[in-house]
Amino acid sequence: MRCRLCGERAGLRLWCRQCRDLWAVWQANRGAGFPRLLRAFAELDVAREQVERFLDAEPKRGGGTIRDHIAAEMANQLLDALGQKTSQDAASAKRLRDVGNWKNYDQRPEE
Ligand SMILES: [Zn+2]
Repeated sequence: MRCRLCGERAGLRLWCRQCRDLWAVWQANRGAGFPRLLRAFAELDVAREQVERFLDAEPKRGGGTIRDHIAAEMANQLLDALGQKTSQDAASAKRLRDVGNWKNYDQRPEE
């Protein structure tokens, strides 16, 4: 079976071991911000291309990519800090990205 997230071989599982590791690290670092999350990912034995495919995968079809989920969490934290009670979700982050407003917001910084 192919991994539903990155497309690599996943044996009998829906997700390959690397994506399960990435998912666990993301859950453990929720709200930590994108740069810190990328550093945590870098400590795993997962190729950078596979990390990118993981970030661009939609765990639930139409529900936004993992990158969208992370962007939505960051937006909520920011708005929360400003005293705004909102619930930016991954699907609306995806819509914003699709129209180009957040084009570079959640991209890996230049090295
Ligand atoms: Zn995978």
